[in-house]
Amino acid sequence: MIDIPLYVHVPFCRHICFYCDFCHSFYKRENALRWLEAFKREFKEKAIKSAKTIYIGGGTPTALDDDILEELLIILSSVYTKGNEYTIEINPETFSENKAKLLKKYHINRASIGLISSNDEELKSLGRGHTFSDVIKTVELLKKYDIDNYSLDILYSYPDQTLDTFKKTIADALNLEPKHLSLYSLTIEENTVFYKKGIEPFNEDIEADYYEYALKTFEDHGFYQYEVSNFAQKGYESKHNLIYWHYEDFLGLSMGASSKMGHKRYDNTRSLDEYENGNYIKTVYDLSKRDEMFEMIMMSLRLKEGLSIKRFDDHFKTDIFKEYNKTLPKLLSEGSVYIEDDHLKVKDLEILNTILIEFLD
Ligand code: SF4
Repeated sequence: MIDIPLYVHVPFCRHICFYCDFCHSFYKRENALRWLEAFKREFKEKAIKSAKTIYIGGGTPTALDDDILEELLIILSSVYTKGNEYTIEINPETFSENKAKLLKKYHINRASIGLISSNDEELKSLGRGHTFSDVIKTVELLKKYDIDNYSLDILYSYPDQTLDTFKKTIADALNLEPKHLSLYSLTIEENTVFYKKGIEPFNEDIEADYYEYALKTFEDHGFYQYEVSNFAQKGYESKHNLIYWHYEDFLGLSMGASSKMGHKRYDNTRSLDEYENGNYIKTVYDLSKRDEMFEMIMMSLRLKEGLSIKRFDDHFKTDIFKEYNKTLPKLLSEGSVYIEDDHLKVKDLEILNTILIEFLD
């Protein structure tokens, strides 16, 4: 495979946060070593020649012991092309000077840091294993090793948070001089501590107040919104994530990763035993043309730039107005979507889900 966007999932965490249901398990060195051996086999079988982008996510990539992380980075450096975007997710709980050195040595040029909140009491009530001072240290280390393209993740709509603590988190985040910010509202998933405790996020009106405050403040500080939850200084958008939103193919490696190749989507196993046995893929979905059309619309409308109508028509060898001959005139006439520079755009991204329902058959 040449020039493939590559995602690598590290399925371990040192703490399990109360709101999270990503594929992860408590970090144990012996399991991480078993995982690494299996990963080497999967990587070899895929015969990747070069990666367009690399994104190491999780779980917590930085939960790995330094020697295991280094082995992983050595493997991935064989497909890295100089100048391409290469991102790693960092949990400040598990970052150190040695890890910063490793990132620099193996060409990682972008980091996504889980800030979440700058209020230590809130971090504790979310089950996070770090404090705000750990975030500050993480940023200082990245800067020391010339990795100045970093993003900060911020969460809102959880118990104990107030508009004042949220405003303080936003201000503290901006003081850390990020190039990119991601803002997520809490969703309660099954199999999480919050779900079991019956915790609920804020109601929609309160969430909207928080979201609008963040939007305005980010804009006032030179960040533009390019996706529902993502904000960047010009030129610092996540190239890897744009591949998802543009509905291009990508390869996901390791337990819990997904891939999209051609007309198929693949979900990898979440079981270490199965992964070790070489049963990497758990489910294969055959995507119908109609599925793919909906998915492209769903992903691209998340972007401020919207869906390129030419791209849609060329990709599916059709005319979007023919395919959605009732939905599109309806949405256009009520003003919830509009067309600009041959792109279909959503007027208010806060009501995106309501609009997407209209595209379902
Ligand atoms: S939020 Fe991140 S660090 Fe926390 S449990 Fe989930 S994957 Fe692990």
